[in-house]
Amino acid sequence: MSKNYVSTLELLRRAMAAQIELGLGEMIIQPRQRQVLQPTLVEEVSAFPMKQDDIFGPIARKVLEPQYESLEAHRQAICNCQACPLGATRTKFVYGAGNPKADIMFIGEAPGFNEDQTGEPFVGRAGELLDKILAAIQFSRSDVFIANILKCRPPNNRDPQPDEMEKCLPYLIEQIASIQPKLICSLGRIAAQALLKTSKPLGKLRGQWHEFSGVPMMVTYHPAALLRFPGYKRDTWTDMQQLKARYDALK
Ligand code: SF4
Repeated sequence: MSKNYVSTLELLRRAMAAQIELGLGEMIIQPRQRQVLQPTLVEEVSAFPMKQDDIFGPIARKVLEPQYESLEAHRQAICNCQACPLGATRTKFVYGAGNPKADIMFIGEAPGFNEDQTGEPFVGRAGELLDKILAAIQFSRSDVFIANILKCRPPNNRDPQPDEMEKCLPYLIEQIASIQPKLICSLGRIAAQALLKTSKPLGKLRGQWHEFSGVPMMVTYHPAALLRFPGYKRDTWTDMQQLKARYDALK
């Protein structure tokens, strides 16, 4: 049996296992084909909010200009930030992690206890579930970039405050400018509401295409919510199928 055949089988096995773990009845079985992101992204059209039947059409992107020469240079410049009170209470600054040229960015709200301890985004049980969600659409962490709106943990995992998010959001925008993702997936109500500047409930935002900083954005549940309410997994799977289908259509 050839190495390629074995690795394709292994990829399918992992995707199936992840999808079964998510409690799903359908699966996407196309082998993953990644495309290297070109630095000059095409200008595409987009309307906000995007209609379902527009999702595979061309979109107009404003290409953000990064202010730093690399993500690492940006991380170093801001890792001692004290711009909001969370700087004084954090254990570790959580910049985000993954492929600096990822086609897809996943964005949550803020670090929790485990992230604050390790400096890594999405660790612990919610992080493990995110890994399974990624595997279900045939991605791994090294394919995507995962970040939060806030880079420091709010005490006792309280909700981020509007002024904290306002202070920290430019850092996320710089990350988007540097990475130039083709798609964004926001995780959870707080991230979606903050990025879309809306107070609509998550149920009205998820499952459809929006836009943030010129990048098409899908909204879905936070993995921590799926741990508390497993019944949301099916909707999450629907959202992930849309994300994967749009990603495949971009190739
Ligand atoms: S949460 Fe953001 S703005 Fe506040 S101290 Fe941390 S990095 Fe700075």
